[in-house]
Amino acid sequence: AALADDVAALVARRRKSFGATSVLFYEAPLHIVGAKGADIFTADGRTYLDLYNNVPSVGHCHPKVVEAVARQMGRYNTHTRYLFDEVHDYAERLLAHFPAPLTNVAFTCTGSESNDLALRLIRGATGGMGIVVTDTAYHGNTTAVTEVSPSSYKTGAPPAHVRTVPPPHPRHYGADVGKGFAAAITAAAKAMADEGIPFAGLLVDTIFSSDGVYADPPGFLSAAFDAVRALGGLVIADEVQPGFARTGTHMWGFARHGVVPDVVTMGKPMGNGFPMGGVVTRPELLTRFANEFGYFNTFGGNPVASAAGLAVLDAIAEDGLMENARAVGAHIVGRLDAARGRCAALGEVRGAGLYLGVEIVAREDGAPDPAAASALINRLRDKGILIGAAGPLGHVLKVRPPLCLTLEQADRFADAMEDILSA
Ligand code: PMP
Repeated sequence: AALADDVAALVARRRKSFGATSVLFYEAPLHIVGAKGADIFTADGRTYLDLYNNVPSVGHCHPKVVEAVARQMGRYNTHTRYLFDEVHDYAERLLAHFPAPLTNVAFTCTGSESNDLALRLIRGATGGMGIVVTDTAYHGNTTAVTEVSPSSYKTGAPPAHVRTVPPPHPRHYGADVGKGFAAAITAAAKAMADEGIPFAGLLVDTIFSSDGVYADPPGFLSAAFDAVRALGGLVIADEVQPGFARTGTHMWGFARHGVVPDVVTMGKPMGNGFPMGGVVTRPELLTRFANEFGYFNTFGGNPVASAAGLAVLDAIAEDGLMENARAVGAHIVGRLDAARGRCAALGEVRGAGLYLGVEIVAREDGAPDPAAASALINRLRDKGILIGAAGPLGHVLKVRPPLCLTLEQADRFADAMEDILSA
């Protein structure tokens, strides 16, 4: 179908300005003119339900965040070497959500910056360079974090100081996923050490989002953490995806597993769209690092970022978003499970809270079916629902809406899935 004139014109302007880096969703990309809660409004007068967005995590244009950012922008905003109240209020409120001994924070502007700093912290502390990540991990876009993001490579592969292991699923590890995953990490670390690359640690997205969403059973990460530490390594938990209450029962994905990482990295949902990130760790790791390098982040934790971050924490608590994520996420799982008999393409449904992975499989043999997933994503868009896919093949629908998603909106998604998949 031909693109609407306004969309075609914007696509052309994008190509002209951004060249090969102009990445868009859908062949006919959306021309957005507004958003509210879990809804996105487009120039052609349509309203879409946004299930593909954990940036505006407390809801698009949440009034508290909008007001806080606008107010602080009108008072003052500076680089981060002055004293001002907001950053301390925010640091203390944020750190209160972390277990001991994670009592220090460094603010950044993106998830990539957070992971970049985290790598420097654990490499400095261990003296090792070797990092283990999962097969289809994504951890960001700097030179260093691209190396630990196998999913970014279109040609070639990560360097020798980065090793990959399959994500935690019985398909790869049998019934005891935790044990198998830990053994794979140990083997990868030892293989590097044998080649003269000392082990620094594990970098892990605690909901395994780009690998295809792996959440169960809670606790499976514990053996992996033990294995890393037995080899003298440290663990970075990347909370860019699961963090800030999305998993429905805990503020952080790692907490579902009853583990305490050495370093925690944050991004996306932290400022509900205001670009901000952070690294939480033990004081001694930061001290060791600061003795070797200066670290200054011009924008990280500036007054406006702090105001945004505080408003997000308030919204999560005041709007009951963790409980909403749990209840609405469980409702979606229940609806999809109930529909499975009528929808042969519906494979495994995994995840926690409002972070779900829905496998789309071939009706005949249950094999992963990326083409069907892609067709489904386009059909859902026609029905006014925006959703994306993950996993090495792209056959796992990623359900990741703002945490304010209502039961009615969840039902609209489940109804649409049933309509399309039972046809
Ligand atoms: N870690 C994970 C798990 C991510 O999903 C992303 C972004 N998709 C990043 C890090 C990088 O964050 P940013 O794009 O803010 O640099």
